[in-house]
Amino acid sequence: MVKEMTLKELQQFQVNFDKKYFGKYWADKGDIDQKISFLKDMTIALTGELGEFANIIKKVSRDRKNLGSKPSKERTEKLKEELIDCFIYLIILSNILEMDIEKEYLQKTKLNEKRFQKYL
Ligand SMILES: [Mg+2]
Repeated sequence: MVKEMTLKELQQFQVNFDKKYFGKYWADKGDIDQKISFLKDMTIALTGELGEFANIIKKVSRDRKNLGSKPSKERTEKLKEELIDCFIYLIILSNILEMDIEKEYLQKTKLNEKRFQKYL
């Protein structure tokens, strides 16, 4: 059982995971070309996972429209799995960019709150 973690701890967990399984951490300092290359590779990987997610949504939507069926348990589980794959790549990308996700998320949602006030 994995213990609950903050986003900051999850980011560090991913750093350790990447170091362990890929030998070298993606965001090693100093080599800008390598960093850009990792950003490109991880962006493509994220897009691929989002595409897998979208493909399942397409099937769920098509089956609902044509057959009136609800999403199966298996499909719902697969959706969750693909979304987590996306989340992992988002964490990796944020680590490459040396972001504090928690802090930047809260800053951005504060801005969005101001932006969407007019719709209330
Ligand atoms: Mg996947």
